[in-house]
Order: sequence, then C-alpha cells, then structure tokens
Amino acid sequence: MALMTRQQYIEGLRRFGHTVFAQGERVQSVPDHPVCGPPAMAMAETYGKAEGEAVRELFTARSHLTGETINRFTHVQHSIDDLIKKILMLRELGRSTASCFQRCAGMDCINTVYSVTYDLDRAYGTEYHARFIDFLKHVQSKDLVTAACMTDAKGDRSLSPSRQKDRDQYLHVSEVRKGGVVVRGAKMHITGAVNSHELLVVPTRAMREEDADYAISFAIPADTKGITFVYGRQPSDTRRMEKEKADVGNLYFGGCEAMVVFDDVFVPDERVFMKGEYPMTGRLVELFASHHRASYGGCKVGVGDVLIGAAAAVAEAHGIEDASHIRDKLAEMIHLNETLHAGALASAVKGYATPSGAYAVDPLLANVCKLNVTRFPFEISRLAQDIAGGIMATMPSLEDQSNPEIGPFVRKYLAGKEGWDSERRMRIIRLIEQMTLGTGAVSYLTESVHGAGSPQAQKIMIMRLADLNAAKLLAYRLCGIETLE
Ligand code: SF4
Ligand code: FE
Repeated sequence: MALMTRQQYIEGLRRFGHTVFAQGERVQSVPDHPVCGPPAMAMAETYGKAEGEAVRELFTARSHLTGETINRFTHVQHSIDDLIKKILMLRELGRSTASCFQRCAGMDCINTVYSVTYDLDRAYGTEYHARFIDFLKHVQSKDLVTAACMTDAKGDRSLSPSRQKDRDQYLHVSEVRKGGVVVRGAKMHITGAVNSHELLVVPTRAMREEDADYAISFAIPADTKGITFVYGRQPSDTRRMEKEKADVGNLYFGGCEAMVVFDDVFVPDERVFMKGEYPMTGRLVELFASHHRASYGGCKVGVGDVLIGAAAAVAEAHGIEDASHIRDKLAEMIHLNETLHAGALASAVKGYATPSGAYAVDPLLANVCKLNVTRFPFEISRLAQDIAGGIMATMPSLEDQSNPEIGPFVRKYLAGKEGWDSERRMRIIRLIEQMTLGTGAVSYLTESVHGAGSPQAQKIMIMRLADLNAAKLLAYRLCGIETLE
C-alpha cells in the first residue's frame, strides 16, 4: 500500500536537507525548529488521519492510475463523490488542527495540471500528459507532498510579465539547454512549501503572446540545487520560542508560507508540463482557482468549528452560556460557518467531468463560496472576541500563575465560575486570541481574504460566469417587455 505514516513523514522531513531560512538563519531541521515545528505537525496530520480507522475512507482513495490505495491528497478526483469527500476531508482536518494543514493547494494543482496537460496535448500535439502521469505515479506511490507554486513576485503590478524592468519578477525560462530548461524567479506565499517534497510550478495569470516565456509549468524536488525557501513571519510566532510555550494558544499545530526562490534551476524535459503554450494559461489559472476556492469551504469551516466551540466554552467559563444574546451570537456564528460549507458542497455536487476524465467543481459556486470566505471568518472572529471579552487582549501570561509573588493574585482574579480555574479559563481565551490575532489569524483571516485569489478575482469570475442576459430575459418576459429576438 502506497501510504506513508505520520512518523515516516516527520523523519523524512528531518533528513530532507532542503535549504530553508527563518529569521535570517538556516533551519537545520524543519520539524524540530520551535517556530517551524507546529506547521510541520499540521502537515503530518494529513498522513496520520489516513492511518486511523475512523476516517480512513475520507483520507484515502483508489488511484485511477495504479489501482492502489493512496492518500486522497494525491488523488485525481473522478466523480462527484470524490469532490464531496475532498471538502469533508478538509473540514475534518480543520477541526483537528485549527490551522492551515497546507497540503490542499498541491492536491488542487495536481488535479488542474492533470486536466490541462490533457487539453494541451490535444491542442498542440505535445506529450505533457504522459509526463505528468509519470510524475503523479511517483507522487502517489511514495505518498509525497506537492506544494503548488503559483504566485509570482509581480514587481510593478501595472505591467505585464515581459514589460517588467526586472524580468525575474515573474518566474521564467532563462535558458534552454539540451534535455531541459533553466528557470529563474520567485514564487511568493507558498503554503506548506518547506514541508513539501515536490514543487509543482504553474503560471500565476493568463499570459499573452509576448509573455510566452512565462507560460511555464513543471515539477521539481524541493531539495534541488538553486531552490531556497525563506520562511514567512507570523504575529506572535516567537511565543513558540518561550521556555514554557504557555501563551501559544494552539499547543500543537500551525500553518506556514514561504517565499521560494528559483535561482537558475535546471528542470529536465520529463518534468516540464507546459512551455510557451500561453493560450492555455487562462484555463489553467481558472481551473486551479475553482478547485482551490472550493477547498476553503472545507478547511476554514473546520477551523470555524473550533472557534465556535471555544467561544461557547468561554461563555460557560463566565457563567453566561444561557444568556439570550450569547445564544444569538453563537447561532449567528454557526449560520455563517455552515453557509461557507454549503457553498463548497454545492460546487462539488454540481461538478462536471473535464475532457481528461478528471472532475472539477462548478466554478460559479466555488467562487461564491470563496467570496463568502473572504468575509465570514472575520464576522465569526468578531463575535468570538465579543463573547470572550476584552480580557482576550489584556490578560497576563499563563506563566504568571506560577510566580510566588503574583501567582496567587493571578489565579484568584483570573478564575471564572466554579469549575473554571484560571488555568482553564486562560487557556481557552489564549486559543481565541491565537486564532483571531496571533499565528492562527494568518490562515483563518488574512489567508481567507487573499489565498486562492483576492476578493476582486472572485467578483470578476462571478460576473464572467453568471448569465446576466438570460436573467434579463426572465425579467422582460414577466413584465411584458418585448425583446428583439
Ligand atoms: Fe488547505 Fe485551507 Fe491551507 Fe488552502 S488554506 S492549503 S485549502 S488548509
Ligand atoms: Fe491556499
């Protein structure tokens, strides 16, 4: 069976030897680094869940290439049921980590490139699809993590890639050599990059003819010469470096992004899946966006479940769990959270088969889902902070409880109602703080706005996909306006 265990994944990452920097220093072992460790553990959960009996059906699938049981994160979805299971799997992981567990962008990118390489071959007579299948068999059989590398540095946003003063602002082919190409540039905000074995690189936008050098897609092992990862900072991340780690909020997990620099990296031909076929870049970007925008209605909903639970718990600690305004706020939070999930599931139920046989979600509903994700987690967070009270931002450290001089005061005045001593109350409040202001807010809030594309990108797609003319005709017919047709 082609499944890696959680422990095998962590051990492998420890020995991987890819070039990672955090806060100006080289990271020797990602899972053992105090700041980088919890995000690596969140990624490891994608392996751990596939080991356990309870949710194995959600976390594994049968490979359509080999017939083997594989991790669903490496699977090409081939039915509506697959699309639905993906959303349910992501919610499950969000519930158990309250973090971005980082493996979905790669899964969504695999599904995209699988389909687009098929279309490319039909349009251009290329051999990309067979190459991609070889790559995918490698990923599935070894149960590897593949990071999706899409967003370029972009330099001057008003200029297209080829018009940039510094060509490297968009990753491009810098040299064509025998047997492959050399690429240069950087990909930004790459989720889970430092916890990945392979990097699957795709263009960040639809390219025009003059930008053909930038229409490049390939996969490359993350430890290849010339690739460097620069870890993204997060608010309060150094709390993880404190001795007791008492104030980290989420004790076990986190999310992470990195800048990935490609400094003249050689990519062999067999790993190149697009090279200059710029007319197909628009389709690639839109397909990936739809897959990934639907994913947010899984993961963020699971994180929302935890935040709703924490808000309900703090209300109990304060003895106000039965107050009508608290119940009203909790109902509002649940309503918002389930609305996100409904959008994602609907996009899966209305999914369709692409020419390659792989399934894709309904793009309009996926974009609607993601546009809601850019807003609702903020409202859910606002309500959680409202319920938690100002103490969330003014509270002493949990470590103060053990100081002989002030500990008795902290334990006495930070306690809640009976059954909620200061330790329990402070821990649940710290979790809400972490999720809405600290390291967790990076994935629950900011990533909800910009991940898988910023809100305006969703509005553009919604306007493109909605049939306004058909809607106008409906209105004309009912009010007796004659149409020209
Ligand atoms: Fe997965 Fe959500 Fe993180 Fe994207 S934001 S990689 S969908 S957990
Ligand atoms: Fe993302």
